[in-house]
Amino acid sequence: MSNSNSWHVLKFGGTSVSSRDNWNTIAAIIKRKRAKGIRVFVVHSAVSTVSNRLESLIGLADGGDYRPSYQQLITLHQELLVEMGLPETLLDQQYAYLKRLLDGIHLLGEVSDRVRALIMSQGELWSTRIGQAYLQTQLDESVNRLDARDFLKANESYDVDYLCANCDYSPDGSLIRTVEESSVVITQGFIASTSEDETVLLGRGGSDTSAAYFAAKLEAERLEIWTDVPGIFTANPNQVNNARLLKELNYDEAQEMASAGAKVLHPRAIRPAQATKIPVYIRSTIDPDIEGTIINDVENRWGMVKAITAKEHITLISMESQGMWQQAGFLADIFSIFKQHQVSVDLVSTSETNITVSLDSLTQVVSEKQIKNLAKDLSKMCRVNIMHDCSAVSIVGKNVRAILHKIAPAFSIFETYKVYLLSQAASDLNLTFVIDDEHSNKVITALHELLITNNPNSEILGPTAKELKQVEQTDTGSRWWQDKQQEITQCLKDRDSAYIYHLDSVKQNIQNLQSISAIERIFFAVKSNNNPDVLKVAYESDIGFETVSSGEVDHILNLFPSIDKSRIFFTPNFAARHEYEAILEKGIRLTLDSTYPIRQWPEIFRGKDVFLRVDPNIGKGHHENVRTAGATSKFGIPIYELEDLQPVIEEYDINVVGLHAHAGSGILTNEHWAEHARLLAETAALFSGVKYLNLGGGFGIKERAQQSELTMSQIDKSLQKVKSEYPQYELWIEPGRYISANTGVLVSKVTQVKQKQNYYYVGLSTGMNSLMRPALYGSYHNIVNLSRLEQTKEHLATVVGPICESTDKLGVEIPFPETLEGDLVLIENAGAYGHVMSTQYNMRKPAEEVCI
Ligand SMILES: *Cc1c(COP(=O)(O)O)cnc(C)c1O
Repeated sequence: MSNSNSWHVLKFGGTSVSSRDNWNTIAAIIKRKRAKGIRVFVVHSAVSTVSNRLESLIGLADGGDYRPSYQQLITLHQELLVEMGLPETLLDQQYAYLKRLLDGIHLLGEVSDRVRALIMSQGELWSTRIGQAYLQTQLDESVNRLDARDFLKANESYDVDYLCANCDYSPDGSLIRTVEESSVVITQGFIASTSEDETVLLGRGGSDTSAAYFAAKLEAERLEIWTDVPGIFTANPNQVNNARLLKELNYDEAQEMASAGAKVLHPRAIRPAQATKIPVYIRSTIDPDIEGTIINDVENRWGMVKAITAKEHITLISMESQGMWQQAGFLADIFSIFKQHQVSVDLVSTSETNITVSLDSLTQVVSEKQIKNLAKDLSKMCRVNIMHDCSAVSIVGKNVRAILHKIAPAFSIFETYKVYLLSQAASDLNLTFVIDDEHSNKVITALHELLITNNPNSEILGPTAKELKQVEQTDTGSRWWQDKQQEITQCLKDRDSAYIYHLDSVKQNIQNLQSISAIERIFFAVKSNNNPDVLKVAYESDIGFETVSSGEVDHILNLFPSIDKSRIFFTPNFAARHEYEAILEKGIRLTLDSTYPIRQWPEIFRGKDVFLRVDPNIGKGHHENVRTAGATSKFGIPIYELEDLQPVIEEYDINVVGLHAHAGSGILTNEHWAEHARLLAETAALFSGVKYLNLGGGFGIKERAQQSELTMSQIDKSLQKVKSEYPQYELWIEPGRYISANTGVLVSKVTQVKQKQNYYYVGLSTGMNSLMRPALYGSYHNIVNLSRLEQTKEHLATVVGPICESTDKLGVEIPFPETLEGDLVLIENAGAYGHVMSTQYNMRKPAEEVCI
């Protein structure tokens, strides 16, 4: 269909324009299109983090010293220019202009929305300069840079909202003429202007909207939204393991999904495409070859659940009033109060005496203060109850009403989870349940399992994210077990299952951590793997042991009787008084992770050294159940309670020598530990005797091909920075998973294979009795048929154990070859929280441990 006049409008986000590598990806995508004669119109965002930085600069200019942050913003761009080999003076004038604007704010001590929009627009204006200059070096035709504000004009029929304007998008002869001679055009997302040429913004996710406007104005052949995910899935693939790629959606469904929380595409971007019938393609810069999702005007005749989406961290306002509802105008009065406070509402449900609404979290950020003021005014008319931390979970699909009978069984899960608000869209595109945030993962997973996974395949459902990753996984790195197949096979000669550990890998992992020079001491979390040979490697590598029970402490003391006690650290949770007494008796350092022991039994700590475990209240981690921080967690002392401990600490002469924080498991953000270090260092000022800051464990490992590994040098860099600010403290860490996970595999023989409708079950000799993590947290483990590594994977297997429990699954939708009884199946990354959690459930002995 392409002809030499047709335009493809391509939108790229902040990450795509933040490094030379990513710009090369953009250049490659453009070249491929040019080779087919397609004209390319690129719309892109500011470099990652720049919009937030500009926003905070405005705040700083208004109040205090903005220069350091301004300088950081410039450094970030200068570093990018150097990386990309562009002239270092490219943006000098732009920097100076921003400086003048900020000085202006500083001088006036106030900032209008108009000036705010102008400042916020700088990020995009700078990045298209970089983009044009760089693409010019990569392409052998000229790259035409437009100022988006010359073509996107705010609709002024209402008051112009400078921060979130709407624009006209009918075909634009002037734009078409301007680019008549060009084949590659580049322009900014997010920004537009008024008829007076004042800069306006298009609100959150505005770059998607800009791209859609340009596509409509150009009457483009297609709009492509390039992201870092391969398309829209039936659920968030990070949340639901077997979420599947949706190959096709119609505009209404896509709109609904975007509005209901699917983050791939901004909902406002769909209308312009729909009005002009331009198909929208969602594609991934990571896998440019994957087809992704196409959004167009296909009509599906029958009802089908397409997706389970969720909007998390939303706020509900419930309003009670006896008998007021029948009064004419009551609702109007209520909603006019919302209007007065500029708070927009998303879901509404009403009854005789109650009206409950959820606040729209997609297009607005409502401050705590705004909510307070709103509630104050509302309470003049009714009783008001505010509920934070809710999630709106939606079942999305056209004609959901027509298939209620089919989805009814799924609702039994709401027996367990309280529903605060239920709403059904008049458009018949969704059913939404508002529940507590903390339950949303479980509810989403269960609904997906019942409504999508267990439904017959349909041609619009593509592969799972995992399968897409599997394709790449074949070429990512080697694993120790690939060279040890003979030994592994030998091990399984006289047993059906075994945990096999590779001790050299334990050593290697410890050495990686030892390269973080900012860290003084490393303690291996014994609970992740207590195998004596594994512990011996740690012992011989001169690191310490983090223990959570007196059992673990005794285990270490038995194995290494002459160990220096300072190499053992005790971090119990809700342990009994006698356990603390026994540990103190042994001269082992410990943390208190509640104020109870100090308040109730202060005498046992008299004159002793203790650490206090702080609740950092940032729950990061790969799964709800292993998030060991945050309000719903049983771990740690809230920072605000620490101060109250002062009198007891003084009275009993207790030495608070350290602070401790541990916020969950599987963290892959390099900066996480520096955040903890900073938080603890700031908190440490409360206690004069603090010498050590224990930053916890949680070091994640790469489990899926798309994840990026932790980089020790980056972790070090971020910690060194904190250390230079707070040189008085020693920094400690206590990783478990990072040291032990990839050193162990679970290998088990196939007992039976069963095909049940379109499910291919591979049964193993052992299951959740050996490896509980998948059943307990839904954790993901790569699984291979070791006996048939080279065979083509023609099935999507559900790998199960022999335990009489429906959660006894080690993996679902695993690409697998045709498998036979007696084959050896290998489950990766089973060295941490594997054998240590095994049970005798069903009176089946779990797999034994073997070291090689
Ligand atoms: C479990 C635990 C760790 C180790 O966590 P990993 O995710 O395995 O690194 C560290 N510190 C404490 C207090 C723990 O409970």
